[in-house]
Amino acid sequence: MKIFDGCRAFIWRHYQENNCNAYLIDRNKRIVIDPGHEHLFRHVRQGLENASVSLAAVDLVVATHGHPDHLEGVRILGKPTLFAMNEEEYAYIRELAGGYFRIPEPDFFLREGDLNVGSDSFQIISTPGHTPASICLYWPAAKALFTGDVIFNQGIGRTDLPGGSGEQLKASIERLAELDVEFLLPGHGEPVIGKQAVEANFQAVRDYWFPYLSL
Ligand SMILES: [Zn+2]
Repeated sequence: MKIFDGCRAFIWRHYQENNCNAYLIDRNKRIVIDPGHEHLFRHVRQGLENASVSLAAVDLVVATHGHPDHLEGVRILGKPTLFAMNEEEYAYIRELAGGYFRIPEPDFFLREGDLNVGSDSFQIISTPGHTPASICLYWPAAKALFTGDVIFNQGIGRTDLPGGSGEQLKASIERLAELDVEFLLPGHGEPVIGKQAVEANFQAVRDYWFPYLSL
């Protein structure tokens, strides 16, 4: 589905198989955010086809974090597509996966700060809590925030998986709440669209979920 000119969401709506939402930033360079599980890549493939973008035309894959339901599909988007994620997160998931690890080496690592791709400027925001070194991608010119598994529509990422921390997740969500956002584009569930809806969503998450994170 088109979110706005230059941005499409491939929302995962299957109820029996877990996979993440993927996003396409379709500008003079093309970025896929979180390609999902390798064996469930069909929604990305279909979404790219609908956008008339071939796999080889994707310039960059960005992973918000290392969980396989977000990351594995990078194996399908091979070269010439570049692949980037956080270095600490890459090391964390490699260690966790042990002998099952089959993710290629990133072409470059994402750090807190600016990321310029083609003519567009993004900000990488370090948001630990769901995993030790999750990142969110903020696109200030579009007021769009890709949140991975940090915050969802009416929900938050799990903190009970290895390396999770409720206190860190709360702090990460509060950092995101300070941004000027009209499109909150989460790793699971439906996008939150409109500045008021985004603000209300941050407040709902604080009210409902934060007490659980303090236990
Ligand atoms: Zn996750």
